[in-house]
Amino acid sequence: MKLLVTGGAGFIGSAVVRLAVSRGAQVVNLDALTYAACPDNVAPVADSPLYSFAHVDIRDPEALARVFEEVEPDAVLHLAAESHVDRSIDGPGDFITTNIVGTFNLLNAARHYWVSRGRPDTFRFLHVSTDEVFGSLGKEGKFTETTPYDPRSPYSASKASSDHLARAWHETYGLPVLLTNCSNNYGPYHFPEKLIPVVILNAIAGHDIPVYGDGSNVRDWLYVEDHARALLLVLSNGQIGRSYNIGGVNERSNLELVQEICAILDAKRPLGSGSYADQIRFVTDRPGHDARYAIDPARIREELGWSPSVTVSEGLERTVQWYLDNEAWWRPLQQRHGVGRRLGTNV
Ligand code: NAD
Repeated sequence: MKLLVTGGAGFIGSAVVRLAVSRGAQVVNLDALTYAACPDNVAPVADSPLYSFAHVDIRDPEALARVFEEVEPDAVLHLAAESHVDRSIDGPGDFITTNIVGTFNLLNAARHYWVSRGRPDTFRFLHVSTDEVFGSLGKEGKFTETTPYDPRSPYSASKASSDHLARAWHETYGLPVLLTNCSNNYGPYHFPEKLIPVVILNAIAGHDIPVYGDGSNVRDWLYVEDHARALLLVLSNGQIGRSYNIGGVNERSNLELVQEICAILDAKRPLGSGSYADQIRFVTDRPGHDARYAIDPARIREELGWSPSVTVSEGLERTVQWYLDNEAWWRPLQQRHGVGRRLGTNV
């Protein structure tokens, strides 16, 4: 099995690359290496004969056509994207060109390649998306695969557009497309501008720990390796043309999550006096901040037998330990453009 994984130098893509190679798949990691990429994320498999890298931007259709000709993949897992909501508020342009136009380019390149090879029914295109396309929930209810789309940020609107394109390429051209919509991921190699690494790294640096608004926004957290496992399962066993919601069934308000991380740090690296939670500061909310996301993963559980293997408490414990042990990974990334600054208030 030869897989073309886009965005494999990012957080989730690299987990997919590591898992697929460890299971014996041949993997070509296609990535433009934006500010969010870190080639070290695939260091554990980089020397494997099963792994190779293509430095390509999905905004470049000619380069994509060449990659398909050279690689001749059996399947595509499409994860390359601009992924940070706060950056999408300050600069939506890259989200439109990469997430929408880039996905269009990739679908087109995949379609031409698939047609040129006689439309093999074994070919798959898995489009990886987010639960944020469904909008914001009240206190009750969960997103299912039939929840109407209602994106509210430039990021989620760009991902929603890309989902529609992927579905259209299946319905119109017959391309064997699958979709997934997943809840918030966390775990090792999470870029240090996202909530959980920000909390851990600000806490141990003795800085304020920012919590947007009153911290009541609820997210459904999934350990990244459980997501990678789900994606490979959907790719091999999912029904063509269908979408699968993936979630951890691990809801936490942002404030509860931050307090839990502080308690883990209190145990692992005790302060002389007080708690890391004393560093929590409430800051101006994100504009249009969705109140609650929660996934109903019944379809993937019942059709494909997937369920999360890591509870949020175990996963947070592992994640905190990973950041404490891997300063050489995160320290240089803190120097990248915009990291460590408050973004997304410039409206
Ligand atoms: P990330 O920002 O960590 O990584 C994105 C990767 O895509 C980077 O390596 C970057 O270099 C690459 N990339 C960006 N623009 C590119 C372009 N034009 N051409 C080629 N490569 C490009 O993102 P992530 O958190 O790993 O998310 C991966 C995918 O999963 C995204 O599609 C995202 O929407 C989706 N998703 C993320 C989450 C989450 O919680 N992080 C949840 C559900 C779905």
